[in-house]
Amino acid sequence: MNSILDLEENINKLKKEDGDSFRLFNSIFHVSSASGELKIPSSFGEKVRSYFGNKDESGKIIESKNEVIERIQTQKIVKTYNKWTGEGSLFNSLRAIRPGMKPQERSKEHEKVQEYIEKSKENCDFCQAEKYTPEDVFGRVQGKHCITGANIAKYDAWNSMVFFKKHNPLDFTQEELSDYIETGFKWFKKANNHDKQFVSPLFIWNCLQKAGASQIHGHAQVLMTKSVHYARTQFLSKNFRSYMQLNGRNYFKDLYNAHKALGLALDGDVNGFASLTPLKEKEFIIISRDNPSTSDDVKEAIYRVLRCYIDELGVNSFNLVISCPSFGETFLPYIIRIVDRGSIFKPTADIGAMELYGSSVISDDPYNVIKAVNEFKHG
Ligand SMILES: [Zn+2]
Repeated sequence: MNSILDLEENINKLKKEDGDSFRLFNSIFHVSSASGELKIPSSFGEKVRSYFGNKDESGKIIESKNEVIERIQTQKIVKTYNKWTGEGSLFNSLRAIRPGMKPQERSKEHEKVQEYIEKSKENCDFCQAEKYTPEDVFGRVQGKHCITGANIAKYDAWNSMVFFKKHNPLDFTQEELSDYIETGFKWFKKANNHDKQFVSPLFIWNCLQKAGASQIHGHAQVLMTKSVHYARTQFLSKNFRSYMQLNGRNYFKDLYNAHKALGLALDGDVNGFASLTPLKEKEFIIISRDNPSTSDDVKEAIYRVLRCYIDELGVNSFNLVISCPSFGETFLPYIIRIVDRGSIFKPTADIGAMELYGSSVISDDPYNVIKAVNEFKHG
């Protein structure tokens, strides 16, 4: 099975089999690896086994002390770097080979999450959004499964919320998710109609507190800005332009093809892939020329990834963003990014100084992520 730890071998294979893809990959990425070594004093051996030993279904450690120590003493690190965006990640063998959540653990955590969300229903303002949330000066946009309202403490002059009718943010169908996106995009038009200077939309969804949400009740946010895009989108747009000027090629197309050549692309027609330089765990990127609010294929792809993450990989807190071209602009594509933010029951933050100022330290193997998404069957 493909593994991120074999990335350099996979790239070498590409060099022999597909020179064009290899060159394309190298025009975007730099990949290297190194081994870190350490010594475990004998007094620490048993503890190390209990911390890092692989377990069976019942939680019993199935590795001997020496097996575990051998794994710990030499650790391979694979380092990826995107020369254009400056994004980079570190994959450690010790973290990458950790087994995923077992079905039993997953259903237990799932139950705990449901209970936690159910409890928060009491006194939830967003359950009665029309009564207990402010509205925009132009009123509310009514979706079938959601309704908009102004953000009471605005990030920016135009910043509103898409309140889902369902309290539980993890419980949504394809139809409901599509409606959230479509309603958000209707709001973009309304805001632009109201003030023509505001032309650059951004759709975001922080799901649960670990992802930055202040309320448990399901809600996305929509923003419109003027003059320049929001900083990250502006940066992507700038890179896209420089890449075009320097290479005469489309950066996002090449980015997708580089991932595809290495077996990290979504099956089907939508250009999606598990990122080689994830910002944090399981980052998935979808690039689309078509507006996601009108493309059923793109909406299905977003739904597929989210449902797979929640139902199959046990994700409960995530960020989703749709970076959009400005109104009337045909240059930038729509860029959809989804990232797992870790369990709501873990008090530690997933982002530390490394992620803010160094490179992202990643546990989840993008090869496992793409495999799960491509094999996932949703209703
Ligand atoms: Zn609610």
